[in-house]
This record gives sequence, structure tokens and C-alpha cells, in this order.
Amino acid sequence: MTQVREGIHRLTQGVVNFYLIEEGGRLLLVDAGAPGDWDLLVRAVADLGRGLDDLEAVLLTHAHADHIGTAERARTTAHARVFVHQADAAMAREGSAPSNDGKARSYLLRTEFYRTLFSLARRGATRIVPVREVTTFADGETLDLPGRPRAVHAPGHTDGSAALLLEGRGVLLTGDVLATRNPLTGRVGPQIMPSGLNHDTPQALRSLAALEGIAADVVLPGHGEPWTDGTVEALRLARAAGPS
Ligand SMILES: [Zn+2]
Repeated sequence: MTQVREGIHRLTQGVVNFYLIEEGGRLLLVDAGAPGDWDLLVRAVADLGRGLDDLEAVLLTHAHADHIGTAERARTTAHARVFVHQADAAMAREGSAPSNDGKARSYLLRTEFYRTLFSLARRGATRIVPVREVTTFADGETLDLPGRPRAVHAPGHTDGSAALLLEGRGVLLTGDVLATRNPLTGRVGPQIMPSGLNHDTPQALRSLAALEGIAADVVLPGHGEPWTDGTVEALRLARAAGPS
């Protein structure tokens, strides 16, 4: 676990990031990693001098297997509420994802493809662990949770993908709306996710417009290192990179 900003902690086991937000002794988990990341979460909460009871909610950027992994366990053992955009709610509850628009075989020659695949398989993220009860949010909604996150709906990667703005802290959590490392090719830098993992890649590119005008100097993605050069430059580079 590393602190990326005051009260904002990044959890990762190499491929996927999720984040703990602290505010006045309350904790919010933004995304929930893979199922096998439970021990990492428990350790991180303990390292902050807190217990699982302090975990108020899990806020999902989308319902993919490597982002929702510990959410149901957090809900049932820590009594945390789980929030997801309304367009990803069915995927979260039922654990079934619609097909993606790129083919996995186009990445077969990439070492990164296997690194990601094996890492996620080892942590049980080959299928979605359903969350029995979810609370939904809509575009533009500010949630009464630690950090007061505001949802910015940016579909494409999934229908219900959303970025989350912590306005008071100048931080934008982008989930898989915008990554800084491509989990299938290994390319580093701001970019949308690869077609092999997107439901609708042209829509994902168009949705970058939803992040325009957001004043955040730090971008925290679902995959890759934190970006500290602001949203304007991140968007410029992501558009220049195009689809993969
Ligand atoms: Zn995803």
C-alpha cells in the first residue's frame, strides 16, 4: 500500500489498482481488486490503524471481475454498502459481462497479455463474483461518502463505467475509463483500455469528452501508475494514443 495523496492509498498486486480513501476515521474503498486481494485489503485497513467495521462503502468504477473481486465479501463481512453506476448494476448482481469488441488472439504475441492473464487467474479474477445487493448512482451525482466523490459517467469500456472526482482533493479516479498502463500490450502512458477488454471502443474514445473541464492534478487509474500532470494533458495523450 502506498499513500498517493493525503488520505488516499493505492493498493495493488501488480496488474490492477484499487484505492482506500480516508476521511475523519471513515474509509471508502474505490474498486475492490480481484477476489484474491482480500488479504491485501485486510492488511491495508489494519496498517491504517482501522478495522473492517470502519469500511463504510465500496464504490465501483465498473463491474469487471478485477475491480469487483472483494466487494461481496466486504458487503457481507464488513457491512459495507456497494455502489455502482446503474448501467453496470445488472453485471454486478448477476456476474455476467457482455462480449467485448476486440479479439484476445490479437494480443497473443505480447508478453504483457500473459503477465496480466496469469496474475488475474491466480487471484480468481477470471469471472465476476456477484454482489447480491448494490446501490446505484447516476451521472453527476455526488455521493455522501468519504471524500464526497462525484460520478462522471463515461461509458465504452463498460456501459456503466464512471470516473470519480474527489473535488476537494484535486483527484480524479478513472477506473478503466483512462489507464496509464495497457494491461494487454504493456504500453505506458494515458490511454483508453485495449479493444480486447472494451465493450465499445469508439464509445470509450468519445467518452473522454466527459472528463474535459475537470480540474484535477492527479489521475488515479485502474491500471498503471498515478498520473500527476493533470487531466488536460492526460486527455490529450489518450486521444493521441487512440485505440489498441
Ligand atoms: Zn475493466
